[in-house]
Amino acid sequence: MERKMKPESLMMSYGYKPELSEGAIKCPIFQTSTFVFKSAEEGKAFFEVAYGLRQKKEGEELGLIYSRINNPDLEILENRLTLWDEAEECAVFESGMSAISTVLLEFLKPGDLLLISSPLYGGSDHFIKKILPKFNINVVEFYVGQSKEEIIDLINKTGIADKLSLVYIETPANPTNDLIDINCCKEIAKHFSSPEKEIYLAVDNTYMGPLWQHPLMHGADLVLYSATKYIGGHSDVIAGACLGSKELISRVKGLRTFLGNMASPNTGWLLLRSLETLKARMDIQAFNANKVADFLNNHASVEKVYFLGNITEKDTEQFNIKKRQCLTNGGMISFDVKGGENEAFKFLNSLKLIKLAVSLGSTESLAEHPATMTHVDVDVKLKQKLHITSKMIRLSIGVEHYEDIIYDIKQAIEKN
Ligand SMILES: *Cc1c(COP(=O)(O)O)cnc(C)c1O
Repeated sequence: MERKMKPESLMMSYGYKPELSEGAIKCPIFQTSTFVFKSAEEGKAFFEVAYGLRQKKEGEELGLIYSRINNPDLEILENRLTLWDEAEECAVFESGMSAISTVLLEFLKPGDLLLISSPLYGGSDHFIKKILPKFNINVVEFYVGQSKEEIIDLINKTGIADKLSLVYIETPANPTNDLIDINCCKEIAKHFSSPEKEIYLAVDNTYMGPLWQHPLMHGADLVLYSATKYIGGHSDVIAGACLGSKELISRVKGLRTFLGNMASPNTGWLLLRSLETLKARMDIQAFNANKVADFLNNHASVEKVYFLGNITEKDTEQFNIKKRQCLTNGGMISFDVKGGENEAFKFLNSLKLIKLAVSLGSTESLAEHPATMTHVDVDVKLKQKLHITSKMIRLSIGVEHYEDIIYDIKQAIEKN
């Protein structure tokens, strides 16, 4: 039997045939809008499949037609991305938000009810609460720590439980690293499903990237990424991805074709390059994050550290979810400085190596102030409830030497 290689071993070659590209070892950028058919019959056959007029025949691949529908850089990237999550199919987008909004529009219609976890990434929160209502789509949200029974009750109380059509969650929650049980959310989706209507569960897995958590293996139907973050990993490209079964991704790609929000060939090519080092980068980031958290846990000017590594057996429920879902402690750390906004800003303004910027998952370490930056739009009361206060700093740990990262944090924190 042939050896089943690990994804990191396949990231340099999988799905690319050098003989189709003049022997080039690397996949070129197929910077082309359209593709030449060998014959009219071939063009007809490709379109029949692309527009769903007939199923693919056994072993038939969709031929290249037009770069809004398909392009080699995107197809190879999509095939490589499926390996990490062991997904059947993948669709890549020009941003994380375009992947998320396309999924929401494909699986919801006017009158439907959407269940979400809270807090969500600010852009997702905005799209769901400010834009979906224009299409008469209703939303109900739950918080970390609510039980399955409480959430089911919450849905029943809306009076439109029969309209529930999609569950959309994010775990670990940004920026607090609180965990949500993916399997439990799937059970809630099943509870409200019927033979005529299956309710799907979508998980935004950006915070853990494709290495550290695999939502599809815990019952999710769709997994979403802002590929701008760990997947791209160099702060030089905006992109997104959605993975799941053949059936669901063909629906997602169907809408993508007509919204026209697929990734460009150049974006696909940049991400192919990034994927080659994904494992190496993320290994170092997780290693560094543990070291940085150790330092913060023991610093007198730090009041509280929000890090997966700090979840202990005492916190039974969170600990059990972590054990089941998370393969590492991740690369994201939030912490409260002693004091308030003044002390937090002084820290941010004193950093030398770590950059003061939003975004996450990149090679360089980043620091930001959630209360006034990424989460400024979150309701004030909700921010208090979620512990997103003026003393909180969020760090994304990069691939620098951990001693240099710690040195920088130490000198900045001691400016106070
Ligand atoms: C950044 C981010 C997004 C949005 O992705 P873009 O690539 O910026 O469109 C969505 N979800 C999470 C968790 C994110 O961090």
